[in-house]
Amino acid sequence: MDYRYVIVGGGLTAASAIEGIRAHDREGSILMISRENFPPYQRPPLSKEVWFGRTTKEELPVHDDAFYREQRVELALRREAVELDVAKRRVWDDRGIEHGYQKLLLATGGSPRRLNAEGAEIEGVHYFRELEDYLFLERHLDHFEHALVIGGGFIGLELTAALTHAGKHVTLIYQKEYPLANILPRDLGLFVADAYRQRGVEMVSEDAVVGFDEAQGLIHARTASGGVVTTQLVLAGVGIVPETDLAEAAGLDVDHGIVVDDFCRTSDPHVFAAGDVAEYPDLVLGRSRRVEHRDQAVQHGRCAGANMAGAGQRYEHTPFFYSDLFDLGFEAVGDLDSSFTTEAVWREPLRKGVVFYLNGDVVRGVLLWNAWGGVEWARGLIREGRAMTGAERAAAIPALH
Ligand SMILES: Cc1cc2nc3c(=O)[nH]c(=O)nc-3n(C[C@H](O)[C@H](O)[C@H](O)COP(=O)(O)OP(=O)(O)OC[C@H]3O[C@@H](n4cnc5c(N)ncnc54)[C@H](O)[C@@H]3O)c2cc1C
Repeated sequence: MDYRYVIVGGGLTAASAIEGIRAHDREGSILMISRENFPPYQRPPLSKEVWFGRTTKEELPVHDDAFYREQRVELALRREAVELDVAKRRVWDDRGIEHGYQKLLLATGGSPRRLNAEGAEIEGVHYFRELEDYLFLERHLDHFEHALVIGGGFIGLELTAALTHAGKHVTLIYQKEYPLANILPRDLGLFVADAYRQRGVEMVSEDAVVGFDEAQGLIHARTASGGVVTTQLVLAGVGIVPETDLAEAAGLDVDHGIVVDDFCRTSDPHVFAAGDVAEYPDLVLGRSRRVEHRDQAVQHGRCAGANMAGAGQRYEHTPFFYSDLFDLGFEAVGDLDSSFTTEAVWREPLRKGVVFYLNGDVVRGVLLWNAWGGVEWARGLIREGRAMTGAERAAAIPALH
């Protein structure tokens, strides 16, 4: 069948793209093809809010079923797009069904990076990305006492907090000296590690799992330093790989992600890409990048949808991101690269304050550490891009709660 719009992917980007399209075209037919069992839902709560009782599974869907009916969006769930012909403007799914389009969006996101360790394919090694992964863990909660979480990034830290809160003993292993090492200044990273230890988590730094053995229902994870962690369940959170296969095979430009311009267009004028999978020009930071965060998925997806419907909107948004680590939480904007010079202004040392990421005297990134309400201010500061003294930066911080 032929559609005016086909969206490949069923995540937050896809959901926002529908809104973007409908803001400019009330009628054009829309097909969304998604591999998942569920229509788009909020992913971030899967590793935090649902575990701490701050949200329920029922609150996860982005839109209720009526929305798709009312907006006349055809959902093709449990369906994978397997081939794309940009010259013919056609896409094929895994049942061999052919779909024609006028405009296509690739909102294919990313899938968990697999562990590079001997025996990593055994049954007890899991990854975490989708609602199905959460439902699996929920169903198996009574079947294990101890979990080994691999990776000191957001997913590893959040799942460690979630499982600890659920009464499990957790060992968290990460390669660097402290978790979130690419983002946090050293003193803050070590503080986070300590906060986790105080909650009873066994923190194993500067080590990596190199192999797994199974014996009598237990998993023995061998580490590079010669240690062994014995556990019942392994959860790996070692990043994602952008799902670019379809785009690459179709001959679209792909670098660190599917390359798009500031109107979310790929190298083919009828194909757009957005969200986790897209490498886009960040007009404020002045370089191209790929962002794996919720705000980017929502805003970039909406802009792509609008532009598919002819809106001609330049994408100028500066996305923010956030995380919750037990009772520590943050919001962040811009380039949070721990190799930049960082300058912290604490209201309460290491517990509450603002960290500036500096290129010379110019603010490139802002970390709002347990300090809320400052995202718009931080965006403005990064956009301004002017040199400031430390005293000027400290004086510029607004009242945060
Ligand atoms: C557990 C978890 C917690 C997170 N927490 C935070 C947070 O606290 N803060 C934050 O800012 N961000 C967070 N994120 C990141 C944020 O959720 C993502 O950036 C965002 O959801 C990406 O949306 P997306 O639609 O671009 O990609 P995805 O969510 O990856 O969606 C892509 C969709 O496309 C489907 N798909 C892929 N290829 C095909 C194909 N060929 N055919 C059909 N379907 C296909 C996939 O199955 C999937 O449904 C979190 C992510 C996870 C997993």
